[in-house]
Amino acid sequence: MKTNRLLPIGLLAALAACKSESKVDTGDPNRGFELASIDSSYAPCNDFFHFSAQGWLDANPIPETETSWGRFSILGRENEKRVRAIFDELVNAEEPFAQGSDEQLVGDLYVSGMDSLQIEEAKFAPVQGMVNEMAHVTSVDEWFKLASQYQNLGVTMPISARVSSDDKNAGMNILHIGQSGLGMPDRQYYVAEDSMSLFIQQKYREHIASMLHSLGATEDLAKASADDIYAFEKSLAMYHLTREERRDPDTTYNKMSMEELKALAPGVPFDTYFEAKGIKPEVVIVTSIAYIDYLGSAVQNWDLKTLEAYSVWQIINSYASTLHHEAVMADFNFFEKTLQGRQKMQPRWRRVQNSMRGLQEQIGHLYVDRYFPAEHKARIEGMVEDLRSAFRVRINNLEWMSGETKEKALEKLEAFTYKIGYPDEWKDWSDLAISREGYTQNMMTLSQYMTNENLAKMDQPVDRGEWYMGAHIVNAYYNPNNNEVVFPAGILQPPFFMPDADDAINYGAIGGVIGHEFTHGFDDQGSKYDKDGNLNSWWTDEDRARFEELTQRVVAQYDGYEALPGEYVNGGLTLGENIADLGGLTLAYHAYLLHMEGEERPAPIGGFTDGQRVFLGWAQVWQVDYREEALRYRLNNDVHSPGMFRVIGPMSNIPEFWEEFGCGEGEEMHLPEDEHALIW
Ligand SMILES: [Zn+2]
Repeated sequence: MKTNRLLPIGLLAALAACKSESKVDTGDPNRGFELASIDSSYAPCNDFFHFSAQGWLDANPIPETETSWGRFSILGRENEKRVRAIFDELVNAEEPFAQGSDEQLVGDLYVSGMDSLQIEEAKFAPVQGMVNEMAHVTSVDEWFKLASQYQNLGVTMPISARVSSDDKNAGMNILHIGQSGLGMPDRQYYVAEDSMSLFIQQKYREHIASMLHSLGATEDLAKASADDIYAFEKSLAMYHLTREERRDPDTTYNKMSMEELKALAPGVPFDTYFEAKGIKPEVVIVTSIAYIDYLGSAVQNWDLKTLEAYSVWQIINSYASTLHHEAVMADFNFFEKTLQGRQKMQPRWRRVQNSMRGLQEQIGHLYVDRYFPAEHKARIEGMVEDLRSAFRVRINNLEWMSGETKEKALEKLEAFTYKIGYPDEWKDWSDLAISREGYTQNMMTLSQYMTNENLAKMDQPVDRGEWYMGAHIVNAYYNPNNNEVVFPAGILQPPFFMPDADDAINYGAIGGVIGHEFTHGFDDQGSKYDKDGNLNSWWTDEDRARFEELTQRVVAQYDGYEALPGEYVNGGLTLGENIADLGGLTLAYHAYLLHMEGEERPAPIGGFTDGQRVFLGWAQVWQVDYREEALRYRLNNDVHSPGMFRVIGPMSNIPEFWEEFGCGEGEEMHLPEDEHALIW
């Protein structure tokens, strides 16, 4: 469903076909780092990314079905094949599975998605009833009711309602009301006026018109409607907070009573909106005040016909990827080809698998039963504790922080909890009804089920055991409200974790990821949360000011990175991730030293000392190349910096890197004293 597109590419990268994959063979003398990746025509102190990656990049061109190609995405693709093997096993099982079992839910949803004959025959039929109903509403109130019901089924509307932790009372869940409603990924696609943006806006209007035309509107009508719809979306976009603004938890925390909410946007029939969701909230958190304020007048001032047309478009847009070939192609051409540069559509099995994220817990369960060795869990736990120990020492030795704040920082560090591999308890979704027929209908049923599950948590205590990522997913996260770091089984594989590689490589790779997630607890956002997960400052004003001075240097550093001619990394948008990379890699290096304490240091491999190999381990993970469109997409939407800057960015700041590779002042990878930032 459309919301998937809004996930950071950190995640999407995990979904990047393996034509020419090169595996890390941990049995060879390289012991985890492929030496053929090195291109020594680049000097490590001048450009460590190309030094460590160019050999790999030359040998691994981007396949046609991909928008980017790297180690990370190859692991993602490998994992998809494993998941596919599980699906095939379920589909071919001799006996039917119990209704509501993980096997039945996953297997049947997959079968329905693979049934292309049935899907072709149905054309727009699965959404036609909704479209007809929407085209005949007679009041704003009625429109809100219907749009809210459809939203439960996965259709975008201009307001969002989701339950999650209360930032200032982290043990409890509360309803969050916020901005939504755009067809394109973000506000700046509507607001920007450079020639590339104008081109994309034109393509988007044409895409809307062609979809409405295939649904039955005359060409003229479709075109006029598309212009109207676009204008409405653009007006919403103007009031959206930018991605950068949304990163500030103080801006997005506005708790109010129902009376206050209604007074903020009297034009929005909130009672109707909530009733359609079966909830009656008394207190909510509004995440974007100016937007909700605008929405109150917008829904009254825009013509009802425009609201209907807009919702009809959103119905088609939200389900296009589950419909017949013509709709799928049109959707692909705009959202993947134009926006991201993908040349060729992914095979059906992969598209269907990617659409099944709603069942990620169930898929993760089936996955770890088959693919995750229990002994890995213990090794990773050991590394997590090494990282914590290294962080403890680092905090104690910080020169810029006062003793008072250090004490609080250490308390927070000790309070960190972690989850590794998979959940202790699996969710029971046995009352979810998924059948082998009707892919679109199944997706709606799943969406309604997930909406109900989420809304049922309103004003209930937070379940700290819950996972927000499937166990098979190649990624990791820090959750500030639980003060926890989480590493699904999916990421505990090469090139992140190689059971037989030398420790230095593993500490640089998965150790760097663990350190990265830890550091999120102390980045510009995470540092605003205390050890109990509440948005509550534990800093002295002076320490906070010194921290911000350092983080501003990181903003300036990344603002200076030119990713495409004239297009730069957004240092503000990517700040939290950059701080986490910088801290994570530093911690990984020191955790490795702690791990080796009292032991004989291993001999160099391929001419690289073990200390140098920690940095190679990190760099190997970020060997990646992008198509131009994909890189631009990323610069606009992703809070993570592109791969090359995840290598050169942190290393240029780390004195231990300079020492290991002998980088002197004046060299590219050695930032001058007055620009360099060492935070954690
Ligand atoms: Zn991160």
